[in-house]
Amino acid sequence: MKTYKRLPVTFAKGEGSWLWDTAGKKYLDFASGIAVNCLGHAYPPLIKAISEQVGKLNHVCNYYQSDVSMSFAEKLIAACAGAGMKKVFLANSGAEANEGACKIARKYSLSKYGKGRHTIVSLRGSFHGRTITTLSATGQDHFHKDFGPYTEGFVFVDAGDMDMLERALNKNIVAGFLAEPIQGESGIKLLSQEYMEMAAKLCAERDILLMMDEIQSGVGRTGTFLACEGYGVKPDIVTLAKGLGGGIPVGAVMAGEKTADVFQPGDHGSTFGGNPVAAAVGHVILDTVANPSFMSAIAAKGERMKEIISSWNHPRIGEIRGKGLMLGVDIDIEAWPVLEKALKADPGLLLLTAGKQTLRFLPPYNLSDAEMDQGLDILKNLL
Ligand code: PLP
Repeated sequence: MKTYKRLPVTFAKGEGSWLWDTAGKKYLDFASGIAVNCLGHAYPPLIKAISEQVGKLNHVCNYYQSDVSMSFAEKLIAACAGAGMKKVFLANSGAEANEGACKIARKYSLSKYGKGRHTIVSLRGSFHGRTITTLSATGQDHFHKDFGPYTEGFVFVDAGDMDMLERALNKNIVAGFLAEPIQGESGIKLLSQEYMEMAAKLCAERDILLMMDEIQSGVGRTGTFLACEGYGVKPDIVTLAKGLGGGIPVGAVMAGEKTADVFQPGDHGSTFGGNPVAAAVGHVILDTVANPSFMSAIAAKGERMKEIISSWNHPRIGEIRGKGLMLGVDIDIEAWPVLEKALKADPGLLLLTAGKQTLRFLPPYNLSDAEMDQGLDILKNLL
């Protein structure tokens, strides 16, 4: 189907931070898919884990348990313990994880307060996925045109407007507040510390669930395992996907104390959720990423990248935002043609955009300093 407006490149293989197209041309990857290949391409421990697991067990129905999936779930809960997470439901994608999160919020509220308290408040500019419900939660009008009727019970507030949030979080009708700590698709926009603390306080006071969509910002990308840890808040639900599988589909709905036991047998499920091969990959990602020294190296690389870009004092460049290796750079021209030109450079450079005039960087965590310099040189020359 004509779902994607594709760029004229067909990739054949990858290694580390590099990709090769079918003609043999090389490209440096500053995008990691979109925050997916967090340990680059063909990461040897990942190849080993996949190969070994495929030879042992590919799939079991969720009527049963698999050892590798159970231990992955435990490891993931431990990695998210700093944010107060207690249990996990394993899924396959970000949208599926957010669907699960909305179901938990609605059931929590229904069983405690009865009907009519099902609204989920989210932010304008947010992106939560492509299913009908996650589109309904996505605060961008252009996603709300062609696929109605949308799921009822979603309202939007302006990110950063505390009065608006205080009014919207009506404890008689609202079940949850869903937000990305750093809005990825709409321009690497960070929620302020003050706003996040206020949201957490209001949610706690009114028993509204604080739901963090960490599908792009999670799994170490901002220098802490979850970006919300950097704010010191403890959400009731966290959703993960993308980097958690390093290129293999995995999604997760993490639940804190309040929400850990909302789902009971029969409430939710997914044929492939907790797939043993995906779980084996998840182990490698967590073993590598979820340790403090690896994550402080991500934070340091992000700072280095920001410093280099700002040292150019480039007339085309405006604000440089972000945390760790989740960065946005505003430019005074349209970003998409820059992305197209970067692709045509030799070696090519894979960039992302976020909004009309923002370049977005989501490189692999193991990008070397030399590769960072090389990619930034390509970009500087282009600008
Ligand atoms: N939430 C956020 C913050 C995302 O960035 C994305 C994907 O870009 C999604 C949800 C949807 O994830 P998926 O495409 O895996 O369904």
